[in-house]
Amino acid sequence: MAGSYLADLASQVTFLIALTVSLNLLLGFAGQMSLATAAFYGLGAYTCAVLTGQGASLTGQSLFAPQLPFVGGLVGAVLVTFAAGLIVAAPAARRVRGDYLILLTLAFHFLFVTVTSTWVDLTGGPNGMMLPPLSLFGFEITTTDQAFWMVLAWAIAVSLICWRIGASPFGRILRGVREDEVALQALGKPTVWPKSLTFGFTAAIAGATGAVSAAYMQFVAPTTYSLDLAILVAACVALGGAGNIVGSVIAAVMIGSLRPLLENTGLFSSDTAVPWQTVIYGVILVLCMVFRPAGLLPEGIGFASGRSRKTLPGEPRNVVDLKRTEKAAPGSKRGDAEIVVEVRGLSKTFGGLKAAQNVSFNLRKGEIVALIGPNGAGKSTIFNLMTGAICPDEGDVVLRGRSILGEDPCRVANLGMARYFQHVRILEGLTAIDNVALGVPDQAGEKLSRVFLSPVAVARREREVQVEAMHQLHNVGAAGYAGETARDLAFGQQKLIAFARLLATGADVLLLDEPTSGVDPRSAEQIIELVRALAQAGKTICIVEHSLHVVSELADRIVFMDAGAVVGEGTVAEITGRQDLVELYFGT
Ligand code: ADP
Ligand code: MG
Repeated sequence: MAGSYLADLASQVTFLIALTVSLNLLLGFAGQMSLATAAFYGLGAYTCAVLTGQGASLTGQSLFAPQLPFVGGLVGAVLVTFAAGLIVAAPAARRVRGDYLILLTLAFHFLFVTVTSTWVDLTGGPNGMMLPPLSLFGFEITTTDQAFWMVLAWAIAVSLICWRIGASPFGRILRGVREDEVALQALGKPTVWPKSLTFGFTAAIAGATGAVSAAYMQFVAPTTYSLDLAILVAACVALGGAGNIVGSVIAAVMIGSLRPLLENTGLFSSDTAVPWQTVIYGVILVLCMVFRPAGLLPEGIGFASGRSRKTLPGEPRNVVDLKRTEKAAPGSKRGDAEIVVEVRGLSKTFGGLKAAQNVSFNLRKGEIVALIGPNGAGKSTIFNLMTGAICPDEGDVVLRGRSILGEDPCRVANLGMARYFQHVRILEGLTAIDNVALGVPDQAGEKLSRVFLSPVAVARREREVQVEAMHQLHNVGAAGYAGETARDLAFGQQKLIAFARLLATGADVLLLDEPTSGVDPRSAEQIIELVRALAQAGKTICIVEHSLHVVSELADRIVFMDAGAVVGEGTVAEITGRQDLVELYFGT
C-alpha cells in the first residue's frame, strides 16, 4: 500500500489505542489480568487472512480459502475471537484468579503462537500469509492515508464503546467484581456472566482490530503477535490509569509515538532504537509505579468517571419513611406473625471442628431475633449457611415455605434474604454512592446489550437508582460523603455505607452480622433506630451482636449459641435470667 510514513505511524498508534482501551475494560475495570491481548489480536488477524486471502500454500493447494470480502473476514474474526475469549474465560470466571489467570492467558498466547507457526497449510507457518488489497463495500482503499482514516475511525469507535461501557451500570458491576465478588453476589448481582462477557467482548475488540490491521498491512506473520506486544499493551493500561479510558488513549499515543521519535532524532541508529525503546518503556513504567501508581489519569478523574460529584441527586428523607411503607397489622402479636425463615437442623463441620450442630430456629415477620454467643460460637457460620455462601452437611433452610438449599448467594439475595457482613466487605475503590447503587435491584443498564440498545431506558433507570442510593445514604446519615471513595472513609463510616447498601437491595429478610461493632456511639444509636424502624416496617431481622445494650434495645427474642449449638432461646429477660448463659456471655 502506497502512502506516507506519518500515516503509517499514526495507524500503528491507533491500533495500540484500540488494544489498550479494550484491555483496560478487562484489566482496569473488571480486574482480570490478561496476557492474551496479542494472541486475540493475532487470532483476529489470522482469521481475516484465512477468510479473505488466497490461502497459505505456495503450491496453490491451500487447506481453506473461501476468499470472502473484507467484511466477511472482519465478522469471522469477531466471532472466532469472541468464542475464544469465552473459552479462556470459562475457568477464569469461576475459579482461576490472580497469578493463575496470568498463567492461563499466557498459555493461550503460546498455544496461538505454536499453532500459527506450525500449521503451515492453514497459516503459512513462519512465512506468514498475504491478504488481498483492502476494499470496503466496493471502495478500494489504496493509500495509507485513506487507510489511516479507517483505522482512526475504528479506534475512536472502540474508545467510545469502552468508555460507554465503563460509565454504565454494567461497568459499575465490573468494578464491583474487581473489588469484591463475594460482596457483589451477596447483593444479588451475578458476577460470572459479566466477567465472561467482558473477556469475550474485549477479545472480540482485539480480534477485530487484528482483522483491520491485517487487511491494512496485507500480511500476517507470527512474529507480529509477540508477547512483547501483550506486555506493552498492559503497560499502557498501567501508565494511563487502570479504569480510566481517556488515560489509556493518552498512554497509547505517548508510548506508540516513542519509537519513531527515537528513530528520527538521530540519537540512536535504527539498530539500537529497538533495545533503547525497551529500556525507556521500562523506565517510564517504573517511574509511573513509583510516582503515580494509579496511572496518569486515575479512575474517576476526567470525563471518564461517568458522573461528576456535584450532580449527586436526592432529597433528604427521614428514616420514618420506612414505617410508612408497610405497617404491621395493629394489635398483631409478633409471636403469631407469619414465619418467614425456618432454619432446620443445620450442621457443618470444618475438618473436625463442629462449627454448627443441628441448629434450628425460626424468624417471624417484623421480628428482631438476636443471635448471640461467645466468639467462635458459629454465628457467622449460620449466616453463611443460610445465604448459600457455604453448603451445610445436614439440615435445610426454608424461605417463605420454600427450601433454598443449594441456591447460590446471588439467588438467595434476589429471593429477598440479604446479609450484612461482619467484615463489612465494602467495595474500597468505589465511591460511597456507587457502593450503595450496586445494592439496588433490577437495573436495566446492568445488561450490556441494553446499554447500547435502550440507552433511554437505561438512563432513566439510572437516575432512579441514584435517587434511591442517595435516599439510603440519608437513611443511615452518610449522605455527606456520597462522593467519597470508600477506601478514604473511616471504618465506622464504611459500616454505615455497607448498611445503606444492604437497605438498597430492598430485601425483606436482613441478616446483620455485628452492624454496630467498631462504630462510634452516635452512629450505633442511628443503626439501632434504623433496625427498629425496619422491623416495624415489616422486615424480618436476625442480628448478631456482642453489645448487650444493643441486644436488649432491639431483640424480641434471643437465640443463644455456643460451640456450634443452640444452648438457649427466649426473651431478653429469660436469657439474662439464666446464670449459665450470662457467664458464658461475659466469660469471653
Ligand atoms: P462467630 O461468628 O460466632 O464468632 P464463626 O461462625 O465465625 O463464629 O466461626 C465458628 C468456628 O468455625 C470458628 O472456630 C471458626 O474458626 C470456624 N470456621 C468458620 N468458617 C470457617 C471456614 N470457612 N473454614 C474453617 N473453619 C471455619
Ligand atoms: Mg462472627
